[in-house]
Amino acid sequence: MDKNKQFREEVRQWLADNCPPSVCKKGAPVKSAFSLKHREGDSKTWLINMAAKGWIAPMWPVQYGGGGLNFFENKVLQQELKRINAPVAFAGMGLSMIGPTLLEFGTEEQKQRHLPKIASGEIHWCQGYSEPNAGSDLANLQTKAEDKGDHFLINGSKIWTSGAMHADWMFCLVRTDFDVQKQKGISFVLFPMTDPGVTRKPIRLISGESPFCQIFFDDVKAKKEDMVGKLNEGWTVGKRLLQYERSSIGGGSIGSRDVDITDSIIELAQQYRGDEDGQIEDPLLRNEVIQQEINSRAFSATTQRITAEAKSGKTMGFSTSMMKYYASEMTKKKSELMVSILGPNALGREEGEFSKQELAITRRWLFDKAFTIAGGCSEVQLDIIAKRILQLPSA
Ligand SMILES: Cc1cc2nc3c(=O)[nH]c(=O)nc-3n(C[C@H](O)[C@H](O)[C@H](O)COP(=O)(O)OP(=O)(O)OC[C@H]3O[C@@H](n4cnc5c(N)ncnc54)[C@H](O)[C@@H]3O)c2cc1C
Repeated sequence: MDKNKQFREEVRQWLADNCPPSVCKKGAPVKSAFSLKHREGDSKTWLINMAAKGWIAPMWPVQYGGGGLNFFENKVLQQELKRINAPVAFAGMGLSMIGPTLLEFGTEEQKQRHLPKIASGEIHWCQGYSEPNAGSDLANLQTKAEDKGDHFLINGSKIWTSGAMHADWMFCLVRTDFDVQKQKGISFVLFPMTDPGVTRKPIRLISGESPFCQIFFDDVKAKKEDMVGKLNEGWTVGKRLLQYERSSIGGGSIGSRDVDITDSIIELAQQYRGDEDGQIEDPLLRNEVIQQEINSRAFSATTQRITAEAKSGKTMGFSTSMMKYYASEMTKKKSELMVSILGPNALGREEGEFSKQELAITRRWLFDKAFTIAGGCSEVQLDIIAKRILQLPSA
């Protein structure tokens, strides 16, 4: 038997023995974004089993809690997970952002201390980049870190910190030199959110939810051993982490968020605007739906090709801006088209006259705009593409 076939059979058997069937049911509350201590029942068992096998981070080295799989093995694993409709066992900024960054820039000691806790789903990370006056112009950040020998003392504030309410640790960009060109005075540090100097203030949205916080730092301590990269060279580390973030947004972390929504724009158009044979009567709408479907499939094929070409599992460089820009703008357009297909049925806010799907589509339409801002807004991505990929002169 060839090696891939044998591996597929092993994976299939392992999943049959270790994946609780209840988590594969449509609508099962698996809570992929929650760490171990916030999980219970089969959702917790699924996380524990996957972590023990190293398949929370399948391509990370085994010594850091990963599965040590190569590109082809990981592809087989993902196909088999999809085949049984298994949900993502654990997700978050640990796996998609700080983990790969530590693999690239971390010391051996940092890798050993932090990576296994990510790969086991124990620790949830948050990102301390944006500040009230540093978003698109991130290098303008003013959160100050003073050198106190074996640690830094941090004062300032971060904003729009996703998931900070439940986060255990933060990776953070701080200013360690105010007297040089702004990119040259930044360092990249890690510290626990349990530090007594950290205050988390949830930001309440119009939807009533609070997915972000503003964070205040009053003499927060970050140990020197938790500085990633060299003093005042954190901008290089921070930019690389953004490429991991953009690659994650561009590579499919958007979508499949709401179990009440059909992901197929064709099905939705047939359901709401089709005749009894499911034909979409309006030629203009038919054209828009087909164009959206073509773009979506072409983008998915491009993403798969790029991933296959990279093989190492390492993300691309500046091209991540192209993927992030296209994915977030395409997703935004898809939601707009879904809302226009629903017509007046998209006007609901509370349950009652409107179906769960209709309410969920309206919520998704509102939220999808955020992806064109998070991880750097679309205009910033266009700037990077113009400057770094097309090599056009700066204004
Ligand atoms: C859902 C979501 C989650 C987020 N999570 C986090 C997080 O976990 N951690 C974190 O640190 N941050 C987070 N952010 C913040 C995010 O990184 C910033 O919102 C983003 O970088 C834009 O910064 P800003 O909001 O200050 O907008 P600004 O920088 O003020 O920009 C506002 C608008 O000005 C325009 N603009 C800005 N620069 C240019 C330019 N060069 N050319 C043309 N037009 C321009 C654009 O239209 C832009 O949308 C999150 C944001 C969102 C929406």
